[in-house]
Amino acid sequence: MAPKENTDLRELVRKIALLNAVKHDGKAQSGPVVGKILGERSEYRTKVKEISTLINEVVNEVNSLSLDEQMRIVAKEWPETLVKEKAEGEKHLPPLPNAADYPQVVTRYAPNPDCVLHLGSARAIVLCYEYACMYKGKFILRFEDTDPKLKRPVLEFYDAIRDDLTWLGCRPDEEYIQSDRIPLYYEYAEKLLKDGNAYVCTCLPQEFRKKILASEPCECRDCPPKENVARWRRMLDGGYKEGEAVVRVKTDLNHPNPAVRDWPALRIINAEKYPHPRVGSKYKVWPLYNLAAGVDDHLMGVTHVIRGKEHLTNQVRQEYMYRYLGWKYPQAIHYGRLKITGAHLSKSKIVQGIREGLFTDWDDPRLATFAALRRRGITPEAIKKMIIDVGPKTSDVVLSWENLYAYNRKILDPIADRYFFVQNPVELTVNQIPRMFSAKLRMHPDSPERGFREYTIHPKGRSSSATFWISKKDIDVSKIGAMLRLMELFNVRIEKVNVYSAEASYVSEAYEEARNVKAQLIHWVPVGEDMPCQVVMPDATMAEGIAEGICRRLKPDDVIQFERFGFVRIDKVNDKITAYFAQK
Ligand SMILES: [Zn+2]
Repeated sequence: MAPKENTDLRELVRKIALLNAVKHDGKAQSGPVVGKILGERSEYRTKVKEISTLINEVVNEVNSLSLDEQMRIVAKEWPETLVKEKAEGEKHLPPLPNAADYPQVVTRYAPNPDCVLHLGSARAIVLCYEYACMYKGKFILRFEDTDPKLKRPVLEFYDAIRDDLTWLGCRPDEEYIQSDRIPLYYEYAEKLLKDGNAYVCTCLPQEFRKKILASEPCECRDCPPKENVARWRRMLDGGYKEGEAVVRVKTDLNHPNPAVRDWPALRIINAEKYPHPRVGSKYKVWPLYNLAAGVDDHLMGVTHVIRGKEHLTNQVRQEYMYRYLGWKYPQAIHYGRLKITGAHLSKSKIVQGIREGLFTDWDDPRLATFAALRRRGITPEAIKKMIIDVGPKTSDVVLSWENLYAYNRKILDPIADRYFFVQNPVELTVNQIPRMFSAKLRMHPDSPERGFREYTIHPKGRSSSATFWISKKDIDVSKIGAMLRLMELFNVRIEKVNVYSAEASYVSEAYEEARNVKAQLIHWVPVGEDMPCQVVMPDATMAEGIAEGICRRLKPDDVIQFERFGFVRIDKVNDKITAYFAQK
């Protein structure tokens, strides 16, 4: 290539690589860059080999920059590309690495059924599921229930987790339960032992620790495989008690991270004392996370492991085992932590709180469990959308309830019918109403086709009066003399305010008059056309009040908006309505 041509090409590659990197969390990939170059410069199609060296070189240079640095360069040199990016709005997940290397993309979500799922689980589930869909692949649910002692699985959570996934709209194509697969793990453990790649360590834990921190082998490490297999059989036969023997996979003893060195793969649990809820006391030897998950990922054909970056060390551990067994490690995507401020996301705190009676149940509105969100009317679509927008980036992300509510509002606002709910009701008598009035209240402000609720006000008695429920927060003594507008009805002037009642007189009908004096617009329910209603708030307190009688027609799971109050999900309807508060 001529020098000039080379410089031009290099500049083009640099631009495409930077744009690609910015799109993919700071890591450009050569494949798409090559594709783009060939698309723009057909003359290079016969020189793929020559240009790919250059492309790899530039991609490496670009990837050595931080994402911030890359963005700065892009913003400075090609600002127009950023504008376009923004206008596209709808976000999509970035492509998976090397997806084309596999006949089918397979992902898995692997919870321990020791608790119900919560918002913190959403990222793993949604990313795994959405990627499987994006590539027309397979999404596996795998219950990792091999610790009957410290992370004891509970039967009801297997079903609760299945229900949660269905609710989220992330139904698995296949399901596995690790406690059904114990003999399989034994098989691979035995192979590792026979090949001299693992050993049964019978050292006292503190002795072993001392050695491993000093990068020294313990006495068991160099036992011949035959002796290790004999010890292994003894483990299975109950010849060792809990804590007396553990199978370790050999690693580099000098590995810079001591937590990687000769990691434990299987251990003994007192099966009589800690029976497993599904298989009882059938097994004394239980695989630990890295053996079970590692073997399963391979056997289940998982191509892309998508999980939090706290698992990075586990990948390093498992790669030793994969090498010993002659397997290829799947593509691993480790995303950063997702913190949601104000949400209870600690499994142990949730479980403890329920046990101590601090929370009423798994769907207590104070919790961020899917069960609680479901009950409140937070939609699975909102959760999905939020997670997809965050994507699989490696940097930590902090979100708040408000972020989730913003997504949820976009979904609920167009579909939720409107009603009036009067919290802490005060009975307002309006006098001197000159004639009969009728109010037509739209079910939805933007959709007249959804119809109206209609109330006819017949003034009665010597003072031509009618009575309404209004909310205590809308009226107090400071309002005496002020004008208020009963929404879509008429304007009144407040004359008297007591604790549970108030009096006003009719002023006029025109909305403009209320607007001119900036009168407050308040909602109301005619006395006699009401029904009691209570709303369970996110802090588990109750908002008590009165709803329109027409709310009798609502059904559980309907999500509506109580105007000037918030979106709620109807939970129960009998002689009283119980609703759960979703959000403002
Ligand atoms: Zn040892």
